[in-house]
Amino acid sequence: MLRILALFFLIVSIALNSEVAIAQKITHYDGSIYIDSLKTLNATFNVSYQNTHEKDFHFYLNKNANIKQLKFGDQAVSYKVIDTIEDLKSIRIQNTFPSKYILTIIYSYPLDKIESAVFAYNPNWIELSLYTGWFPVNIDDKNYSYYLKFHKPEEYEVIGNGVIKNEKSNVIIANSNNHFDIPVILSKEFQRFSSGNNRMKFYGTKLPKEKINEIRVISQSIYSFFETWYGITDSDNLIIAVNPFGHDMSYARKGFISLSLLDGFGPVDKKVLAHEIGHLWWQNAKVEGWEDWLNESFAEFAELKWIENTLSKDAFQTLLKKYEDAYKKPIRISQITKSDNQWHSVAYFKGPYLLYKLEQNIGEEKMLLFLKDIHKRKVSTTEEMMTVLKEYADEISVNAFKAEVY
Ligand SMILES: [Zn+2]
Repeated sequence: MLRILALFFLIVSIALNSEVAIAQKITHYDGSIYIDSLKTLNATFNVSYQNTHEKDFHFYLNKNANIKQLKFGDQAVSYKVIDTIEDLKSIRIQNTFPSKYILTIIYSYPLDKIESAVFAYNPNWIELSLYTGWFPVNIDDKNYSYYLKFHKPEEYEVIGNGVIKNEKSNVIIANSNNHFDIPVILSKEFQRFSSGNNRMKFYGTKLPKEKINEIRVISQSIYSFFETWYGITDSDNLIIAVNPFGHDMSYARKGFISLSLLDGFGPVDKKVLAHEIGHLWWQNAKVEGWEDWLNESFAEFAELKWIENTLSKDAFQTLLKKYEDAYKKPIRISQITKSDNQWHSVAYFKGPYLLYKLEQNIGEEKMLLFLKDIHKRKVSTTEEMMTVLKEYADEISVNAFKAEVY
């Protein structure tokens, strides 16, 4: 994700500072969701948990959701709403659970009361994710699968991340990969189009024909550029939802991008799209720790290389200035946590600039081989990355790079 809601930071920092230890993990969601007229969503979720020893735990749900039942087996579970943060309420449960259990939660959620300014209710495009708290979410859980069955009026469509199966009034969305969000979009006015190589499927609404063409051509060119640079990616099923919000928060999940057009698919939006497509090559590191810089800085660097290719030398140098400024910050990547307010400038600006400097040191040819190898080996830790680097850079360059990371 390139831009992150303040809300997300808030949740992360609350989760980190909370005295509630993270000993319960969500491993799977099984959801049955009834949607009437795109006004109300009625959901039954069976949430699979793994539990080590903790009793108390919490999750978040949209604050306007009305919980009808919360149970474990046949037993009703009592809970307390302990806090409300923007759109979400934090629900705490005090109970004793076995090492594995399934919590059932039945609730209704009035879609027309989405209050989040960035995902405001729009019946042509209802976008739900952890940001809107449409499902019982715990920000600390990053590794779950899901199976959702939507029952909805025939004229509406549901899209999401994963394998989507459409029956008349049912849509099944299943995802077995390790996920930390369940993005879902509802509309009856989807425009569908795909990139020339068919690897990227787009959904939009009310986009003019020329814009659709432009998006297809540019995304294809970005993809081809990355493929030449970094090799063939096995993440080949990408859904790109071009939402009508025009806000500055585009985000990417494995296989799914929500792209918001801020400047009518001008330079700003193209940059965001290139970063998000870049994640198809750079998304191996665990997202919970600081080493997520391997995802973000590499995706951002990939994007910079594409931009370098499309801009004049001067224009590119001007753009780089912002990265260089962040680079001057004394804080090292390994010293930062994701809840730190410098995380964004370090992971998205300082990190890519470090890679840019590395390229200046070892030359474009070696850099290319290094990046290809990082991608091929699915490098997911900084340690591993340093080992790979030794094959492409001399000792002085390796040490200089290392000194800036640690
Ligand atoms: Zn990103």
